[in-house]
Amino acid sequence: MENRLKEDLIEAGKYGRDPERLVTCYEDLDPERGVIRPTGTVANKKIRDYAVARMIEIGLEVRIDKIGNIFAKKEGYVSGKKSVICGSHLDSVINGGQFDGALGVFAAIEALRRLKEEEFKNERPIEIVVFTGEEGSAFGLTLLGSTVLIGKLSLEEALKIKNKEGKTLSEALEQIGYLGNFTRALDDVEYFIEMHIEQGPVLYNKKIPIGIVENIAGIAWVYATIMGEGNHAGTTPMNMRKDALVAASDIVQFVNRYANKMVTELGSATVGTVGKMNVFPNGTNIVPARVEMGIDIRDVKFENMELLKKKVVEAINELEKIYGVKAEVTLPITHLPEPLASEVVEAIEKSAKQLGIRSTRMNSGAGHDAQNMATKVKTGMIFVPSVRGISHAPMEWTDWEDVENGVKLLTETLKNLSSM
Ligand SMILES: [Zn+2]
Repeated sequence: MENRLKEDLIEAGKYGRDPERLVTCYEDLDPERGVIRPTGTVANKKIRDYAVARMIEIGLEVRIDKIGNIFAKKEGYVSGKKSVICGSHLDSVINGGQFDGALGVFAAIEALRRLKEEEFKNERPIEIVVFTGEEGSAFGLTLLGSTVLIGKLSLEEALKIKNKEGKTLSEALEQIGYLGNFTRALDDVEYFIEMHIEQGPVLYNKKIPIGIVENIAGIAWVYATIMGEGNHAGTTPMNMRKDALVAASDIVQFVNRYANKMVTELGSATVGTVGKMNVFPNGTNIVPARVEMGIDIRDVKFENMELLKKKVVEAINELEKIYGVKAEVTLPITHLPEPLASEVVEAIEKSAKQLGIRSTRMNSGAGHDAQNMATKVKTGMIFVPSVRGISHAPMEWTDWEDVENGVKLLTETLKNLSSM
């Protein structure tokens, strides 16, 4: 029974690999070549088609909504009870792995297969969802399908967004056959549950098979442009420079130091990263004139995000005094931290106990469609270990034993939620 989910993940894992090939174990991975299936690509169509075929096989009615989200439903036997939805996404980052997103979708399909075979009578309807464009790898915006589903972004606006080739989302979905006309409101939904790889090293290092997510971290980005004075690296004396990169490097150090200090002193889950830096004109023999930097700040507590953001902006503003440079700051996005429903957390925990599977409560530092769903319905997440904590990279892997533990737990949780 457990081999079916494994087969699906291996089969579906060939889509977006160049050349298409089956990866069955960690040793088969190619560190240079992962999967590439952004929304609207041929590979994205192939994996969607594969998943839909599996849903139809078990007799589910499949519907596509106007943003390309896929829904499949198993009716409940008690009329008037609201649905429990489970699922994830099938798009990927550029050069990612075969588990991120796909695991949550194929585990949901496998859970429904098992319920069917057991002839389990679910009180509530149980539904599968595949969200469009979670990764933002084609259309820039992350969590696209769920953002439209919860009404945070209008359908019209979303469909007009263009990818790098200048194609709109509407055109791209049409081309792969996933521009539907179903409208899914959420007023008849009670619960949402997403199974996902952890994408971090905690479970793997602690050798715990299951993580139950309590909070999804919020994200704040700070963009800064530091303007110095470009000049000759040979003829400009050290005391007469306005070196934008030297100033920017202070911020790189500051972000790391201050986030560490918060972790140590506040016991917080803060992480701070300068992940992006463009140096202009970027010549070995030129004193850097300008640096553009992107800073990523995350925490499960909004006050902590705000504190680090404030300290970083202060540090940037002080650069002028120290280095004679000018600095400009913009704050492009803030996603609030999202606590998940304690009712669902407890239901997952109870199900794990029933099955005798060890679990631990934890937070998610990565964003997920679940954080959008949590604003509308009672939401929970099940994490399984990522080997060496790697994801969004070709070496992303989850051991088959952990996959099986996860789907067992998902199935049991769906049963419990169905009668709650
Ligand atoms: Zn994901």
